[in-house]
Amino acid sequence: MEWLSDEQRFSAIEENLKIIRENIASAAIKSGRDPNDVNLMAVTKTVESRFINHAIENGINLIGENKVQELLTKRPELKLDDCKAHLIGHLQSNKVKKIIGAVDMIQSVDSVSIAKEIGKRSLEAGITTEILLEVNAGSEESKFGFSFDELFEKSCEIAEIKGISIEGLMCVAPICEKEAEIRNVFSNMYGMFIDIGAKNIDNIHMSVLSMGMSGDYKEAILEGSNLVRVGSAVFGTRIYR
Ligand SMILES: *Cc1c(COP(=O)(O)O)cnc(C)c1O
Repeated sequence: MEWLSDEQRFSAIEENLKIIRENIASAAIKSGRDPNDVNLMAVTKTVESRFINHAIENGINLIGENKVQELLTKRPELKLDDCKAHLIGHLQSNKVKKIIGAVDMIQSVDSVSIAKEIGKRSLEAGITTEILLEVNAGSEESKFGFSFDELFEKSCEIAEIKGISIEGLMCVAPICEKEAEIRNVFSNMYGMFIDIGAKNIDNIHMSVLSMGMSGDYKEAILEGSNLVRVGSAVFGTRIYR
C-alpha cells in the first residue's frame, strides 16, 4: 500500500479490520465457539507507528512485534494504554534484559536456555513474565521451536523456572501447503494444547493457543486457535527497508 496516501491507508486498515473480524466470527461460529473467544493480534513489524495507532483506535487491543529493537523504538510512540504488546519473534539471550517489562508476553520461547534467561531477568526486575512455548509444528528445519516429541518434557522443565509463567503454545505453520495439511498441523497443535493442559502441572496454564496468520487464520480457528496473529491482511504487504 506504499503508493497510497496516509488517508487511503487509514481507510484500508479500517476496511481490512472489518473483513478480518467477520471472517474470525464466522470461523469461530463454525467451530462452535463464541467469536469473542478468539483474540485478534495485529502484527506490526515494519509498520510505522501512525498506522499502528490507527488500528488501535479502531479496536485493536493486542499487537505483536518480532524484533526487540524495533519494538523498543516504536513503543514510546504507540498508544498502548488499552493495548497489549507481545514479542512473537525469535529472541536472543543478549536481548532478554532489554525486553523484560516492555512486553506483556513473550510468545516465542523456543529453548530451555532462553526460558531460563527470561526467568532470571524477570526475577531481577521483580516481575513474572508470561510466555508461550513455540512449537515447530511442521517439523521444518528452518523454523524455531520445540518438536512435538520433546514438547511435554521441555514444558515440565521450563515450568520449574521461577519468574515465568507458561500460558500456552504458539506456532508458525508451514506455508504453501494444501489446506488439509495445514489443518492437520493446527489440529496436532490443538491436541498437544489439550493434553498438556489436562495434566494440571504447576505453572503450566494452557489458556492461549496462538496460531494462524494472514493466509491461514480461518483454518487455525476451525482447529481451535484462540489467538490469531495477522499482519499483512491488516496493514498491507510489508516493505522491508
Ligand atoms: C510476520 C508474522 C506474522 C504475521 O504474518 P502475516 O502473514 O503478515 O499475517 C505472524 N506471526 C509471526 C511469528 C510473524 O513473524
